[in-house]
Amino acid sequence: MKRGDVHSCPSCNTLHTVTLIESSLIVCKSCGTYIHEATGDENTPEQSKMPDDWTFLKIGSTCELPQQTFHLVGRCRLQLRNDYKNFWCAEYGRGKCLWIAESFGSFSIFLSAWEKFAGDPAQLRAGASVKMSNELKLIGEYVEKCEGISFAGEIGAWNFFTPGFFVVQASATTKTSFFFLEPKKNVSFLSGEKILAERLNFKNTIEWNEWK
Ligand SMILES: [Zn+2]
Repeated sequence: MKRGDVHSCPSCNTLHTVTLIESSLIVCKSCGTYIHEATGDENTPEQSKMPDDWTFLKIGSTCELPQQTFHLVGRCRLQLRNDYKNFWCAEYGRGKCLWIAESFGSFSIFLSAWEKFAGDPAQLRAGASVKMSNELKLIGEYVEKCEGISFAGEIGAWNFFTPGFFVVQASATTKTSFFFLEPKKNVSFLSGEKILAERLNFKNTIEWNEWK
């Protein structure tokens, strides 16, 4: 789905205008139905309700860096065995997309798109070194299975709609990468940086006394 396209919800006919240059999924703001282009059966998103959690962010929150403001337009929530991760999809610069990963108040920002991992997937273990380039080696922090996945809002280019894949995070000082390992598929990863919430300067967030 492309920026400016208008899609009608198949369940309730609410119209949605695509914000991002490339969008994989829109969750109907009226009824929650997933709106997406026809894909192979294997990659059809399974409808799943967004669970409550403790995030103070919402769709419509902004994050204001000195040169640029980002608007949160969508959320992919991964339920891992011992943790959760929110991947917030943020729009900037007329339809460009970046990702902000959040868990328990810690944040990472990913300006680049998903890439295919050319290294050996056997490197992707807790405590193991992952060579990203001659200059950059990351250390695996954990491996967790994704046991549930739910979506809200508008989701940029994203290929992971079915739980069961493994999530590996590997970092070195502020550099961090997320690797998603799906059985019998290439490993995909995002590369970015850990960043303090204060630097992201979130606005229009959920105040603590609005939590229900
Ligand atoms: Zn609808």
